[in-house]
Amino acid sequence: MQNCQALETLFVQSKPGNRAVRFPVCDVPVDKPLDALFPSEHLAATDLPLPELAEIDIVRHFTNLAMLNMSVDTHFYPLGSCTMKYNPKRNEAFSSSPRLLGLHPYQPESAVQGQLEIFYELQQMLAEIAGLPAVSLQPAAGAHGELTALFVAERYFADHGEKRTTVLIPDGAHGTNPATAAFAGFKTVEIKSDADGLVDQADLASKLNDQTAVFMTTNPNTLGIFETNIRQICDAVHAVGALVYLDGANMNAIAGITRPGDFGVDMMHYNVHKTFSTPHGAGGPGAGPIAVRDFLSPYLPTPIVVKQGDGDRGVPAKLYRLETPPKTIGKVRTFFGSTAILNRAWFYLRTLGADGIRRMTENAVLNANYLLSLLKDAIDVPYGDRCMHEFVASAAMLKAERGITAMDIAKRLLDYGFHAPTVYFPLLVKEAMMIEPTETENKRTLDLFAESLKKILAEETQLLHDTPHSTITSRPDEVRAAKKPLLVAPLPLEED
Ligand SMILES: *Cc1c(COP(=O)(O)O)cnc(C)c1O
Repeated sequence: MQNCQALETLFVQSKPGNRAVRFPVCDVPVDKPLDALFPSEHLAATDLPLPELAEIDIVRHFTNLAMLNMSVDTHFYPLGSCTMKYNPKRNEAFSSSPRLLGLHPYQPESAVQGQLEIFYELQQMLAEIAGLPAVSLQPAAGAHGELTALFVAERYFADHGEKRTTVLIPDGAHGTNPATAAFAGFKTVEIKSDADGLVDQADLASKLNDQTAVFMTTNPNTLGIFETNIRQICDAVHAVGALVYLDGANMNAIAGITRPGDFGVDMMHYNVHKTFSTPHGAGGPGAGPIAVRDFLSPYLPTPIVVKQGDGDRGVPAKLYRLETPPKTIGKVRTFFGSTAILNRAWFYLRTLGADGIRRMTENAVLNANYLLSLLKDAIDVPYGDRCMHEFVASAAMLKAERGITAMDIAKRLLDYGFHAPTVYFPLLVKEAMMIEPTETENKRTLDLFAESLKKILAEETQLLHDTPHSTITSRPDEVRAAKKPLLVAPLPLEED
């Protein structure tokens, strides 16, 4: 049952004079009034229009709001491409240790050796999984990693007296890829997919030339299919002197099994908030470390953590040092990047170890294929009967026959207690529903999800158009809701 009062905004609930905390009257003499401490032009002329509430109102408000939400901790969350796996609470406990939280980035290196050791080991582990030796932990997210790597590429070409102008991107790519390339000042060129959903090699060959700076690939691609010709593709890109970039958002399908560096990639990012079990969603902090080949390491952002000696005689107690790569592009983020997120990733990787990472990947692929096998007779899956860690179903036939859209199905899943899959992406598939279960789901959950989806497909078209029925709002205008949020008026409540 929904709690109406809690759904009013704090401003609506505000009553002058209410307080969460009341301080006692000051019992020491005040020798200076406020305007003697601060110049009067820096003091506000009127009180800020802040809501005034008792503690219980605030607690109820946020607790009830949180309960309207879906999260990995409360619901199956098969949001394709986003890898919404469960984040073990031990990662939280570790990264919230006061010994880590109490550190300050301006402390001298000698006083933060433990934290530097964590960064160093994380760089090493990410380098090993990538098959690429040099790592920068700085970028704040996957898209930021893409941007950082394109800056590295640009600096590398400039250093060799070249100004290359284009970045080649497959038509199935995530929107961040072309956005990043444009933001970094490159022209983007789209590469077609072939009938199997793989990179069309003839189209790629016809568009590769001495102006190509970078080919960006996602492998497995956004259809959940491994680019079986990746080696030839990388060779063709290298033959014109260009670099291959891997969008590493889908590392949950290959980590511990195959390494991007081994199949020809020169630079990549990780989304540690996807693959390595650090929380993500709602625009919170993430991290997008990049890994690159040796010849690109001089251009990486500063600082990199290096290890000095191995406790030999004469080596100072300070073992881990910050180093600035000789031709660095500079900084892309303050200090070290999203330290607390990176610490969670380190802890997760140390917990799983090399065998665990491999099992993580195997189970992610197994779960996706199990779910695909349950669903492929119920809904069209245009590319392949097998997938990697996710697959893309299409409601195009249902739309043509019965007027049911991917959005109808996605919204109805909310009524059944599931987060919706990613819809209308990738653009290659009409009425796309991109389903990624991740390895942390059990068989019962996958069975229930498949049964529910089948039940939904048997429901009346009109009922599906009117869903969801169980949520506080049904079908908001999503663009307007984002651009013009109603922050003061209470949310409209349904009468029933
Ligand atoms: C999530 C994702 C990105 C962007 O990563 P962020 O960490 O959200 O910036 C890029 N490409 C693909 C394929 C993704 O799934």
